Amino acid sequence: MEDRIMTQKVLRYTNNEVEARTEVTNLGGRVVHQFSPTAFVAELPDAVDLNDLTISSADPTQPLDEITQLAVTAWTTTQQAAKSAKFTSAPSPTEGLAWDAPGFEPPHDSSSAVTLMAENVAESTGTPTSLYMIGSVAVGIVLVSRDTGAEAFTDAERSKIIQEVQEGLDWLAGVEPRARVSFNYDIRPITVTSLPGPYAGASDPYERFERDWRDAALASMGYAAGRAGYQKYANDLRAKRQTDWSYVVFFTKYPLNHFAYAVVEKVVMNYDNDGWGPDNINKVFAHETCHIFGAADEYGSCSCGEISGHLGVPNNNCVNCSPPGSQIPCLMNANTLQMCEFSRGQIGWDERLFPATETNLVNTSVST
Ligand SMILES: [Zn+2]
Ligand SMILES: [Zn+2]
Repeated sequence: MEDRIMTQKVLRYTNNEVEARTEVTNLGGRVVHQFSPTAFVAELPDAVDLNDLTISSADPTQPLDEITQLAVTAWTTTQQAAKSAKFTSAPSPTEGLAWDAPGFEPPHDSSSAVTLMAENVAESTGTPTSLYMIGSVAVGIVLVSRDTGAEAFTDAERSKIIQEVQEGLDWLAGVEPRARVSFNYDIRPITVTSLPGPYAGASDPYERFERDWRDAALASMGYAAGRAGYQKYANDLRAKRQTDWSYVVFFTKYPLNHFAYAVVEKVVMNYDNDGWGPDNINKVFAHETCHIFGAADEYGSCSCGEISGHLGVPNNNCVNCSPPGSQIPCLMNANTLQMCEFSRGQIGWDERLFPATETNLVNTSVST
């Protein structure tokens, strides 16, 4: 059951990012996706007349730069597909399947990936730039293509990734209105010449397949190699975009040690998305994002009751909790856009952390 204000979601263009966002806020809405300085998607109460928005417009007032165009095309493509599929679409065959279902590889958490890193906390990353998912989040979306061969991205694949990222983040931003989650994108299509791994001299199994192309991408963005580089990138994003939090995701077609994983400030994902396929990047990316903000896995060898996240919430929807079969569907255990109360708590969605606003007073009785 939902008991929230009816809203409209609109794509807008502006030449004044900051004032446009303030105007949206003053009308009782919020910017959900800031695609670039000149384009954003806002959620506004239905009662708001869009003609009252004077700092942004429904159509661009000048030619769009390449990155903005990429994000806008991806967004409008999804919106149109959703409209036309509304009454005809069947659920995907993998909808609701457990992440470790036979024949499928699960998206990994950071625990096995960062055994060499002291910063690792349990199964969530517990990273200072992403303690809990409330407020604004800058996300660096680095699309790493090789200049030649099977690891080169086509424009259609880049567009598909951005569509899927938008879908995943749009869902995350809408699950808990009191968290007022918004995403500020930094989309970086990058082409490197690195050979595919495994790379000699890398002892960490993930580094063995990630190091050379990732460091080449970081170098082309002006950053140092390794964690120092992507950590600085995350910190810079947070400072420049003035967001509460930040993290980085690398998408690639280079072979990986595992097709999707989260480690401290970064998510790494393969375009093929293993047996789940590119159409499920939205859910796998949302799953990895929840790890970044403190959620633990609920499949495989998860420990019932183990504490995770900023608020230390027990993992009580783990598949190993008793009685067997009591687990409810959740993004942290299956390919589904639902989230249990424990995962919500682990990423900080709790009264103790929600910002106090008038909107929240209206929404305190929300149950979903
Ligand atoms: Zn996971
Ligand atoms: Zn859960």
